[in-house]
Amino acid sequence: MRSFVRTVGPSRVLFGAGTLQQVRAEAERLGGTRVLLLSGPSLRKHADRVRAALGDLLVAEFDGAAMHTPVEVTARALAVLHEQRADCLVALGGGSTTGLAKALALRTDLPQVILPTTYAGSEVTPVLGETAKGEKVTRSSPAILPETVVYDVELTLDLPVAMSVTSGVNALAHAVEALYSPDADPVTDAIALEAVSAIARALPALGDDPSDLEARADLLRAAWLAGTCLGTVGMGLHHKLCHTLGGSFGLPHAETHTVVLPHAMAYNAPAAPEAMARIAAALGVPEAPGGVFDLIRAAGGPTSLRELGMAEGDLDRAAELAASKPYPNPRELTRDGIAGLLREAWEGRRPTGAPAPAAAAAAPDLSALTGEVVASFDNCPDPRAKELLTDLVRTLHGYAVRNDVTQAEWQRAIGFLTEAGHITSDTRQEFILLSDTLGVSSVVDALSNSRTPGTTPSAVLGPFYVPGPPAAEHGSDIALGLAGTPLWSDVRITDPQGAPVAGAVVDVWQSDADGFYDIQLPDLDGPVLRARFHTDDDGRVTFWSILPSPYPIPDDGPVGRMLEAVGRHPYRAAHLHFLIKAPGYRPLTTQLFVKGGAYLDGPPGQRDTVFGVKEELVTEFAPRTGPTPDGRPVEGEWRLLEFAFRIARTVPTDPTETA
Ligand code: NAD
Repeated sequence: MRSFVRTVGPSRVLFGAGTLQQVRAEAERLGGTRVLLLSGPSLRKHADRVRAALGDLLVAEFDGAAMHTPVEVTARALAVLHEQRADCLVALGGGSTTGLAKALALRTDLPQVILPTTYAGSEVTPVLGETAKGEKVTRSSPAILPETVVYDVELTLDLPVAMSVTSGVNALAHAVEALYSPDADPVTDAIALEAVSAIARALPALGDDPSDLEARADLLRAAWLAGTCLGTVGMGLHHKLCHTLGGSFGLPHAETHTVVLPHAMAYNAPAAPEAMARIAAALGVPEAPGGVFDLIRAAGGPTSLRELGMAEGDLDRAAELAASKPYPNPRELTRDGIAGLLREAWEGRRPTGAPAPAAAAAAPDLSALTGEVVASFDNCPDPRAKELLTDLVRTLHGYAVRNDVTQAEWQRAIGFLTEAGHITSDTRQEFILLSDTLGVSSVVDALSNSRTPGTTPSAVLGPFYVPGPPAAEHGSDIALGLAGTPLWSDVRITDPQGAPVAGAVVDVWQSDADGFYDIQLPDLDGPVLRARFHTDDDGRVTFWSILPSPYPIPDDGPVGRMLEAVGRHPYRAAHLHFLIKAPGYRPLTTQLFVKGGAYLDGPPGQRDTVFGVKEELVTEFAPRTGPTPDGRPVEGEWRLLEFAFRIARTVPTDPTETA
């Protein structure tokens, strides 16, 4: 059963062609005797008709409304209002002029009659977004909701097609987000779907004939319906993002809505499959985010934030701002998720995974099948296993559907995994290589280990760790005579405050000077370049080894062929591995990278092939000649590595985290 609460504002709505003539009667109905008319310079022709209709009721005018309702503009209009002792507001224009009327009504409680000329929908909401000192703040109050809206289709006939498209998509966004709003009720559902299908009909028709009265009426009615949704239920990620992009980066309102909507929908789609299916049906397309993108592109609307003038360098800050305050949204909001969405929107790509129109046309609805598989986990006693399997199935089904995967492609994918299984042995782990080269290991590593500020960053374990390495004494040489530039490592393990951690177990492993680990060299007798140390009372460990070098991950298997197929190299930047454990502390798996070495920077695909490098882990392996710290005679150059690892204390509430 669906529970809901529905509260509707008391607006009076007149809809038709030529309704403008009734503006005087409507103002008088609200007790108006002295009208302040708000309008804009681009609406002179219509303003003349409103003036004529108002007659001697009109005592003052203001035509300086600006987007996002800056408070200084409101102050100027307020001065005119007081000077002329106006007792009623009539606003002719888009969302900006309506916003000004609302801001004045909020301050004076005067009644408002709004004559909308765009499809923004603001005229039927009790919401006002005002900008002060560069920040847009939204508030809601019954005093803000206009008393009367006079929709006159003739006022929209000369709204340029480009603006009609973006403004129409602004309305579409209200309807879309209403359909997955937690406050939605059967009435908002119905009117939102009606708005979606009217917009889907009207936008292409306007492209053919911008003065098509029926198409204009469809759009204006949809604007009212969608605006009603906006005024009744809470909006989600899409509106929050557009609010941020408009308020903090000055991007134009309707255009920003147009670019962002398909991407916000794609982000939310996995968490709102039912709403997306209904939107897709109303649009008459197989899937909603791609369908909205295609509708916009076909109508000639903007598709990238780049073309709206947004600087690439602002994307991160925008993601930060949009993720900073929690708000209801069907899918969990993460900074990285929003950053990815914004990147797609900035580039102007068709939402990732959405099938190309030709393939999509024939795609069957598989949601029942997905639902059945998910339901098959209902009796799983382990809630985490159930959660992970459910999302895995949804993600895999969605992947196949979005990409219209063919049987041959799926067979190839299974063949790839089979081959990875066959080549995997005790000393060769192709699945770790796959996880590493797709960046998944780094994602899981970051999720598991990067939540303790003030400690040394972690890095992936990699495929060459062997549990239980041989114990070694401080100062010993773990290279056991292998050729290479001698390296003296002097490392300390401390707590987050810098106090030494005595008795910590420190496992070290690395490649030789040619880039091979011992387990890759069958001729070697026993473990080399890997050892286990225990820190002394100062938290220190010292040992000799050799300078590691960059090396290719094993690339003679399916992962190597995958890298070759996409034009990627198989190299890792030179590094030393550490795995540190101590009672009362969280284990730290990390790597130190040789500063100045290859594959540390460069364009994506040219850096470390497992995405393991973190700036704080790039360390000086300083060249030295002459006497060594322990007096060992060395001819020529040797290197010195000094590093202090800060490890995090165990979170007391997590008893599983012991060394
Ligand atoms: P707008 O009102 O700023 O209008 C854009 C431009 O189009 C202006 O230059 C305007 O003069 C011109 N114009 C408007 N109608 C025209 C017509 N018929 N013919 C020719 N030119 C015309 O833009 P908008 O997209 O309607 O509104 C955007 C503003 O509304 C933003 O500030 C936004 O935050 C706000 N808004 C608020 C709500 C709410 O519920 N509070 C809802 C939607 C939009």
